[in-house]
Amino acid sequence: MNTRAAPGGRASSAPLIGRDREPTLFEMSVPGRSAFQLRTTGIPVRPLAELLPAELLSESPTDLAEVSERDLVAHFTRLSHRQFSVDLGAYPLGSCTMKYNPKVCDMVAAMPGLADVHPAAPVSMIQGWLELMVELEDALCEITGMAAATLQPSAGAAGELTGLLLMAAYHEANGDRRRRVLIPDSAHGTNPASAALSGYEVTTIPTDERGLVDLDALRAALDTDVAGIMLTNPNTAGLFEEDIAEIAAEVHKIGGLLYYDGANLNAILGVVRPGDMGFDIIHMNLHKTFATPHGGGGPGAGPVAVSQRVVDFLPGPKPTKLEDGTFGWSTPSKSIGRVHGWHGSALVLARALTYIKVHGGEGLRLVAERAVLNANWLRHRIAEHYPTAHDRICMHEVVVTGTALKRATGVRALDVAKRLLEEGFHSPTVYFPLIVDEALMFEPTETESLQTLEALAEALDRIAIEAHEHPDEVIAAPRTTPVRRVDEARAARNLIPTEDARG
Ligand SMILES: *Cc1c(COP(=O)(O)O)cnc(C)c1O
Repeated sequence: MNTRAAPGGRASSAPLIGRDREPTLFEMSVPGRSAFQLRTTGIPVRPLAELLPAELLSESPTDLAEVSERDLVAHFTRLSHRQFSVDLGAYPLGSCTMKYNPKVCDMVAAMPGLADVHPAAPVSMIQGWLELMVELEDALCEITGMAAATLQPSAGAAGELTGLLLMAAYHEANGDRRRRVLIPDSAHGTNPASAALSGYEVTTIPTDERGLVDLDALRAALDTDVAGIMLTNPNTAGLFEEDIAEIAAEVHKIGGLLYYDGANLNAILGVVRPGDMGFDIIHMNLHKTFATPHGGGGPGAGPVAVSQRVVDFLPGPKPTKLEDGTFGWSTPSKSIGRVHGWHGSALVLARALTYIKVHGGEGLRLVAERAVLNANWLRHRIAEHYPTAHDRICMHEVVVTGTALKRATGVRALDVAKRLLEEGFHSPTVYFPLIVDEALMFEPTETESLQTLEALAEALDRIAIEAHEHPDEVIAAPRTTPVRRVDEARAARNLIPTEDARG
């Protein structure tokens, strides 16, 4: 029944399959074709109509594409080649920590003993899983300097929401209703969004000329209506907040809590700990720092670790080592309840523990040292054409500004990012953090070699020179990628999210 018309393609003389032309599965569909057929099982075939109640059966056939396994595999393989991935090359997308993910983590996550377990299996059958989760909680607490953690949240933003619910529960238990959360203007967009979702009002704290929290503005905003501050250190400009001890003391003095956005721990692993800086709540993105492939919708995990003052409020049930040495579940005395239907993104947890154990404490420290070294090497190497907004040593990522380049040539940060795709590198993050004009944010991560960084720097140099000599060439890029420059304004205003839009 797959008689759906081939949009645009078939009727014209354009080939169905070619370098620039990947048909949809519906265009490839041929009635009666199927992926595989087991003809020799010996099991008699019973029509579905005999197995299911009549009212559950559809009257018309399902409108699905009918393709062979061979065509299906080729289709998805071809599509995957039109995509840039961490396994293809350097991916310096700042704030996203697109490091190479060691395959050993995937091998562990694929072990049947871990992968094939139902989350509702009885405790006696999941002792290994429970031990793994307890061990991961301990490791994350040791890395962050915190007292206990929940592994339930499924991503960074879910961790933020959990952390803010913990903050609210803590104040409520003290008979305290506080309405405001302080967030620096350099923060990741999820911070104010999570605060608003938790019912808090957001007070924005400006950044001073150092690129750090403006201490006077912070002091002026502090009163007993403040539930806490959401901060990350190093901040999103890649700079270390030098006044963190003083900030912590001031916030604690008015009874507030300190929330650490630990999405990217790559700069501090094994070097400093948020708990020692005075933070009370931290979420971590295991899919960034601890090597789970992410982007494009892969599952994440955003565990939240807390200081002693907040442990009683953690979500439950929590994997726990019991007195008799076996493992089970327990729920903290004032728990905010569940924040996940089950126990979190379990296989991401398995990958993270593998990553931590493969590296060991010394190895994790090396990760941080190399990540910071790589970012600073790049900062220094590209400074001639791409100066930083704040002339200081950076942490695991470097934010440069394209303001001068734009003034001289009309080429914007966005154009540089698009042109870089033609050079075989993924683009850096652009226009974030918002406090830097024409921002280009590079996070090379520890997994890129000196040779790769040099190649990236050479590509950036070439683009800057081209911007001066032939700015139109840069502005027209990318032209050699499967998808070329799109009219973003038109795409946003006149979005047609159907295959018919391809024309
Ligand atoms: C990625 C990121 C987040 C959000 O994490 P998700 O897993 O995408 O929800 C929050 N804060 C910072 C600083 C980040 O880089």
